[in-house]
Amino acid sequence: MSSRLDQVEESATLRLADMTNELKRQGRDILSFNLGEPDFNTPSNIIEAAEKAMKTGKTHYAPAAGIPELRDAIAAKLKSENTLDVSGKNVLVTPGAKQAVFYTTFSLLEEGDEAIVFDPGWVSYDACVKMSGGRTVWVKSNDDGSLPEGLPKYVNKRTRLIIINSPNNPSGAVLDKKDLRLVADLAKDHGLFILSDEIYEKIVYDVKPVSIGSMIPDRTITINGFSKAYAMAGWRIGYAAAPKAIFQNMLKVQQHTATSPTTFVQYGALAAITGPQDSVESMCRQFRERRDVVVKGLCDIGLPCEMPRGAFYAWPKVEGSSEKWAEKFLEAGVGLTPGSAFGPHSDDHIRMSYASSMSDIKKGLERMATVTGGMEGWTKKQKQK
Ligand code: PMP
Ligand code: GLU
Repeated sequence: MSSRLDQVEESATLRLADMTNELKRQGRDILSFNLGEPDFNTPSNIIEAAEKAMKTGKTHYAPAAGIPELRDAIAAKLKSENTLDVSGKNVLVTPGAKQAVFYTTFSLLEEGDEAIVFDPGWVSYDACVKMSGGRTVWVKSNDDGSLPEGLPKYVNKRTRLIIINSPNNPSGAVLDKKDLRLVADLAKDHGLFILSDEIYEKIVYDVKPVSIGSMIPDRTITINGFSKAYAMAGWRIGYAAAPKAIFQNMLKVQQHTATSPTTFVQYGALAAITGPQDSVESMCRQFRERRDVVVKGLCDIGLPCEMPRGAFYAWPKVEGSSEKWAEKFLEAGVGLTPGSAFGPHSDDHIRMSYASSMSDIKKGLERMATVTGGMEGWTKKQKQK
């Protein structure tokens, strides 16, 4: 076995989702808030476009970097919405944003190079860094999700990459311009690269995230995808926009591994990005309603929680081991992801994805109240409604 994988954990999000599904198959009554995946169906205009593509012969290999129409449409979107100065030639369409994260770390890191990952941070950054031979340097974010002013002290001769994710999975925090300036200045002064994962960009509440690539284009790899905004998680389609040299390396990795993203899926993505956006707005409105119920419910049952400004996760605090809490909640029929999966400083949190129906959310909170032992009033109030 390759020792490169010895230090890599299985994906906690996917493992727990599989485990919960298996328990459900065995007949256990479990409400699952583990996985970060919209419960909505993909909008029909996207499905129709992919179906038409399939029926009209778009079933052959695609150009390795993606179909030109989609690369151009993504570049136009990045220009107009994110003020990035890119053309279709800088855009690599990938089988999911996750793949783009891996291509980035694999293209940039030499054995022993360091990548800064903020804690809490999504489960796959550390794995991608390690699988690329690098070393993750975890830097704890402030409690409100902003970045610590002491960030520069984590940079040394081996530092090569800083990974940011705004809105953040799991905390829902959105970085403001001051945080981005701190990262951009460090990258400029020390010749580092920035991976900016913007996959939750469209799921935001009263805030417009800024793309760091508009501040420091020659050092930023901007990653985004369709899984969240367009409820297309199972389609496996995402993209990266990168400076030319990095783009060329990422393309090589794609050519030799995936070949290209699935051809007809790219036509679905094209319809998503160029078609009407009302379903994105409607999903976001529903996420907001759920967020408000979840955050209030969690606080009421004794799990204090910051108000997330983006994504679809609540990130309440727990006392003691998050894995123990996850086990207790599972026994009560609620699947959650322990904070420990999101970094060494996050064992005092637990993640609840609210990409589930409102009725499941309310039922789930009631079950959770039986574990936290508290807030009988909350359960009663819900029953009266
Ligand atoms: N980045 C973050 C922060 C995510 O939560 C996810 C969820 N899967 C991804 C990237 C990967 O998304 P995709 O489905 O496009 O691979
Ligand atoms: N990103 C989602 C999550 O955090 C989906 C699972 C995964 O790819 O990690 O749950």
